[in-house]
Amino acid sequence: MIRLGLLLGGQMDNELCQQFGFDRSAIVERLNLLGLGGPAIPMIAEELQSHLIQPNVDGIIEEFYEALEQTPEFRLMGLDEGRINHLKMMQRTYLLNLGVQFDTPDYFESRLRVGAAHERAGVSLSLYQSFYCQLQNMLLSLVPDEIREKPDAFAELAHFIVKITSLDMSLAIEIYHSTEIHDLEDSITVCREESELLRRSLRFDSVTRVHSRGFVVQALEEKLSRALKDEKPLCAVMADLDHFKQINDAHGHLVGDHVLHDVATRIVTGARSSDIVGRYGGEEFLVIFENASLDVARDLAERIRIRVLGDPFTEDSTQLFVTLSLGVAEARAGDEAETLIQRADMALYEAKEAGRNRVRTELDIGPSSKATTA
Ligand code: GH3
Ligand code: MG
Ligand code: MG
Repeated sequence: MIRLGLLLGGQMDNELCQQFGFDRSAIVERLNLLGLGGPAIPMIAEELQSHLIQPNVDGIIEEFYEALEQTPEFRLMGLDEGRINHLKMMQRTYLLNLGVQFDTPDYFESRLRVGAAHERAGVSLSLYQSFYCQLQNMLLSLVPDEIREKPDAFAELAHFIVKITSLDMSLAIEIYHSTEIHDLEDSITVCREESELLRRSLRFDSVTRVHSRGFVVQALEEKLSRALKDEKPLCAVMADLDHFKQINDAHGHLVGDHVLHDVATRIVTGARSSDIVGRYGGEEFLVIFENASLDVARDLAERIRIRVLGDPFTEDSTQLFVTLSLGVAEARAGDEAETLIQRADMALYEAKEAGRNRVRTELDIGPSSKATTA
C-alpha cells in the first residue's frame, strides 16, 4: 500500500507532529481517547478498506463531489475543472489510506497535513467538519448485507468508521485553532512593533535625533530625585543658539533644520556618554549632567560651546558660523525639575545679556534676573 505521506510531499519529517506534540505517547493517548486502542481494531480497519472503500472509491468521490457542488461555500471557491480533478485525486489517496496503520506518527502527520491544506485553501472548519459527517454516512450506507446481518460485526465496523473519521476531525480542529492562535500571535507582534515605533517617536525628536522634551524632562525628574536622595551632585544646562532666526531668514528653514541637527550632534559628542541631551524647544536644548558639580558642569558646557564654535557648518559650499549660549544650575534640596530648569534658564539669559556665545552659571545671575523670578 502506498503511504499518503510519500504521495503528498516525498519524505516526511513529521514537522506538524512535532509542532503539535504528537510523539508516540501523545498518539496512544489520542487513540485511547477515541476508543481506537483495542487489539481487534487493525482487523476492522482492514475490513473498512477491503469491503467498503477499495471497491467503491470512485463512486464515493463522485457522490461526495455532487453533494459538495450544491453547497454555496464550495461554489464561491470558484474552482476550475483541473483543480477539482486534482482534489479528487488527492481524495482518492486520502480514502485509500483511511485507517491504514493509523497508530503511527506518519499517519498523524499525513492527516494533520490534509487538515492544514484545507485550512490554507480557505475551507471553513464547519464545512470541513460537514465533509466528515457526510463521509461517515456514505461509508455506513456502503456496509454490505453480509456484515449488516451480523449485529456485532456491523456495530464494530460502524463504530470504527465514526471513530477513525473523528480522529481526522479532531486533528483538523487542532490545526484550525493553531492558525487562529498564530494569527493572534502575529497581530500581537505587529502591535508590539508599532508600539515600539511609537515609543521611539515619543522618545526622540525627529529633526535633531536627540531626546524629546517629554523624555528629557521626565529623565530630569527621576535623576534629580535620586541625586537628592543619594546626596550626589547633578546639574542641568539650558543651551540656546545665538541669533538663529538670522540663519533661517538668510538661508531658509531647511538649512536651519540641518544646522539644528548638526548642533545637537555636537552637543551630544561634547557631553559625556552618560549625559542626557534633549531638545527642549525650538532651538533650545536641555542637558542633564549626573554626578557633576557646578564647576564640572561649567567645564562640560564650555567644551560644548567650543565644539559648536569650532568648525563652521557647511551648507552648499556656504560656511555658516553658529554660536551657542549656555546656562548652568546645580540641584539643591527641595528642587524639582521645573525649579532647576528655571535657574538654568536664568543663567542662560545672563549669558545672552553678557553678549552670547558664553557659559554662565546660576552664581552669575544678576539682581535684575533674580528680580524677574522672585
Ligand atoms: P537669540 O540669540 O536671542 O536666541 O536669538 P534667536 O534668533 O536665536 O532667537 P529667537 O527666539 O528670536 O528665534 C528663534 C528662532 O528659531 C525662530 C524660529 O524660526 C527658529 N526655530 C525654532 N524651531 C525651529 C526649527 O525646528 N527649525 C528651524 N529651521 N528653525 C526653528
Ligand atoms: Mg536663540
Ligand atoms: Mg530660543
